[in-house]
Amino acid sequence: MYSKITRIKAREILDSRGNPTVEVDVYSKSKRGREEVPSGASTGIHEALELRDKGKRYLGKGVLKAVNNVNKKIAPRLRNKNCANQKLIDDLMLDLDGTANKRKLGANAILGVSLASCRLASKIQRKPLYKYIGALFNNKRFTLPTPYMNIINGGKHADNRLQFQEFMIVPKFKTFKESLRAGSETYHVLKKLIGKKYGKSSTNVGDEGGFAPNLNKVREPLKLITKAVNELGYGRRIKIAIDAAASEFYSRKGYLVDDKYLTQNKLLKVYESLVDEFPIISLEDPFSQDDSEGFVSITESLGRKVQIVGDDSLVTNVERIKKAVELKACNALLLKVNQIGTLSEALDAAKLAMDNNWNVMVSHRSGETSDSFIADLAVGIGCGQIKSGAPCRSDRLAKYNQLLRIEEELGR
Ligand code: PEP
Ligand code: MG
Repeated sequence: MYSKITRIKAREILDSRGNPTVEVDVYSKSKRGREEVPSGASTGIHEALELRDKGKRYLGKGVLKAVNNVNKKIAPRLRNKNCANQKLIDDLMLDLDGTANKRKLGANAILGVSLASCRLASKIQRKPLYKYIGALFNNKRFTLPTPYMNIINGGKHADNRLQFQEFMIVPKFKTFKESLRAGSETYHVLKKLIGKKYGKSSTNVGDEGGFAPNLNKVREPLKLITKAVNELGYGRRIKIAIDAAASEFYSRKGYLVDDKYLTQNKLLKVYESLVDEFPIISLEDPFSQDDSEGFVSITESLGRKVQIVGDDSLVTNVERIKKAVELKACNALLLKVNQIGTLSEALDAAKLAMDNNWNVMVSHRSGETSDSFIADLAVGIGCGQIKSGAPCRSDRLAKYNQLLRIEEELGR
């Protein structure tokens, strides 16, 4: 039949950090779906396994085993299967892998095939990808997402002393196009302010395109961002979001913030005072991935005012989301397709979060490619939020630029 998979071919390519990653081509008789797999740096311990070769080649980071698993194991199993049956495609790979964290085939191998099959099916049906995903998700309300732009990078994404990983601006304008413009203007004004205050070398950028000045106090970036926003007169339209990625500065001694080790309760107080002082609307991973007590306390204290987003704690995993819902440990899900490894499971995770009245934010990884799948994903599921780094660097802009095209196509 027309939508039968005839051939699958994976290869090793390089991502935005210059590390190997997997690219997969899935073919029907007349069309090809191609997808590239992203890769995180501050990865949660409960994420599905990203298979790396180890050894000397690419300093151990090669992905030839994952490539081989696609070409030699997954391809024969999926040949002649219908690429428009996403659930079947994903279930066959889950079955072939047979492990809880996809360690046999590698989540990077499985995800490449899962997304490329979806892309192929959308092409065969001559539907824009977001519409095709919308149909998979039973959604017809295609809303353009609010961008969460990471304009100051710290943590594992930069070689500075900032403990919090991401300081984001959240422009909320009438159209996506206007939000992107205001975000870009703020980014450039911020560059000028940082250069003036800390010297030109401080405007070098981190992995997600945001500036990475060598600051070490969490209030500093927030003050700089506020100044940039106010200079442009966008005080009411641009809010702030933080991804603390707290698993990365947590140890047995406590949470290392502003050069001091803090208890869970002291860290909560820090967040409460930051929310009082700055227009913060979203806090991601405020506590370490297994510190559910911390998550529960902050959701109780700030959850009505601020979105509490689970990333490392939830890893786009339905079972972990269920537990967090029961505990009231969050009120929003960060949706990262490669944390779980198949599109079907990621859609299930989004559905579960939405059914429980949580917000959902689609997210890139710090290691990205020119792939823009997640832009269509955000519109397709209509979740209303996306984070894809700064409005700088093509790997980040691939997503924002795709959203411009979608907005144009939808005539908004
Ligand atoms: C994040 O933590 O939300 C993130 C995008 O970073 P990484 O991809 O390194 O996990
Ligand atoms: Mg995060």
